[in-house]
Formats: sequence, C-alpha cells, structure tokens
Amino acid sequence: MSRREIEKKLKLRGVLAGLRKMYGDVRVPPIRAGAGLDMLVEAMLSQNTNMMNAHRGYRMLRRRFKSWTAVMNAEVGDVQREIAICGLARMRARRLQALLRTIKEGQPRLSIDFLANAPVEEAMEFLLGFFGIGPKTAAFTLLFGLGHSVLPVDNGVLRVVRRLRLVRAKARDLEAERVLSPLIPRGRHYPMHVLLFRHAKERCRVKNPKCGECKLLKLCPHGQRVVRHRPPEIEVGVAEVRERNLRKAEFISAGLVKNGNEDD
Ligand code: SF4
Repeated sequence: MSRREIEKKLKLRGVLAGLRKMYGDVRVPPIRAGAGLDMLVEAMLSQNTNMMNAHRGYRMLRRRFKSWTAVMNAEVGDVQREIAICGLARMRARRLQALLRTIKEGQPRLSIDFLANAPVEEAMEFLLGFFGIGPKTAAFTLLFGLGHSVLPVDNGVLRVVRRLRLVRAKARDLEAERVLSPLIPRGRHYPMHVLLFRHAKERCRVKNPKCGECKLLKLCPHGQRVVRHRPPEIEVGVAEVRERNLRKAEFISAGLVKNGNEDD
C-alpha cells in the first residue's frame, strides 16, 4: 500500500469517528437468504425515480407475486401495472423479466446469493454485465443484499468525499467507489455509507453546508475555505437597536425624515 493510500485510510478512520460523533453509531443488520435479488430489483426500480416511489412499486410487486419466479413468468402487463408508480413501467417490466430469466439460466434456483462468496470484483463484473445495471445499482446490491465490502457512492456521498479530498474533485461515482472501498476496514462499509448519506442530507448540503458545526471540519479543506470566507455574523444587541431607534426618532422630530424612512 502506498503512503498516500495509508494517509487516506487514516483519514477515513477519522471521518467515520467524526460522523459517529454527529449521528451516533449504525448497527449492521444480518444478511438474510434471498436479500441479494430483492435488493437488486429494488435498486433497479429506483433508477430515474425517487426512493419513495421505488419502494412503493417494490412493495406492490411483492404483494402481488409470491416469488421472483412468478414475476419472471407473468404477463408483462401484469408486472407493468404493479410498478406503474415508478414511471417507464413497460420498459422496466421487460428489463426486469429479462434480468430474472438470465439469472435463472443454468441455475436450479432463481437467486444471486452465490455472489456473496465470490471475490468482490467478480461479483461486480457479473452484475455490471446485465443491461441497465450501472455501478451504483451494483454497489448497493453488493453491500446491502450480499454483505460485500463495497461503498456505494450516490450524488450526496460523492459530494462529501470530494469536499473532504478523499477523491479527485472531478472523480465520478465508480472511481470514488473503486478508490475508497479497499481502504475501509471490513464491516465498516455499511455504517460509512449510511452516515455519509445522512451527512450529505443534513449538514454537507449542496448550498450553505453547515461547516461551522461539522465534526469533520479539521479534515475538510473545502469546509475550512467556506468558514474562512464566510462573512462574520453581525450581532446587533438590544442596546444598539434602542440607540438606533432613538436616533431615528430624533431625525423624524427634526423634520429631516418623513414616515420614519431615512431615504425619503
Ligand atoms: S466541513 Fe463542511 S464541506 Fe466539509 S464535510 Fe463538513 S459540512 Fe461538508
């Protein structure tokens, strides 16, 4: 491991510690059988729509069909109807059924649980081989559905790691995932993702990040610049306000100001 990688590894440790101070610890849930395919389908449904619609579409699909085999063998229109809330439902339904058929080929069970024991790079390649599965969907499936040591990088997480200079300022999601995942200790990818995601929403926002109250400030060149250049807040005390009002009243009574407006 190069010196730079060792420095980044230590920095990531500091980042996780700071995030835990702000938001508390995150318990890693156990992975149950079948979770890989469940996660893959839900992540697919979340493409180009919001998480709430994706989750509702997923729930409706699960309620209507007893198994993924039933989804695979159903009429495309029946699948389409259940996921209509996600938008582009016809295309999604066709793509989902094609994916399920390809996974089933040459296997006794319709499942991707076997990927849990494969090296992470192989598992990633396998998922990226499907039409419509990108690095984000693959990384979410690997971490949340199969328990692999991968850091999924969505827009919020990417913003935070760029600002912390953990990756290049122009790095994209796949690059960030590939650079950072091997530097995070086993078992910490889950809390790291969940806490970075929350941090991006609550403090490290696109506009006006709350750097002054961020426990990562010492590690963050972007935040330090923001704090340095932010104009100091002018605190106007009660006495000062009273003094101003008094002066204004004097001008009004002297006939210099009409209607209480000094610009009149
Ligand atoms: S210091 Fe500011 S920019 Fe840096 S991580 Fe914290 S909130 Fe984001």
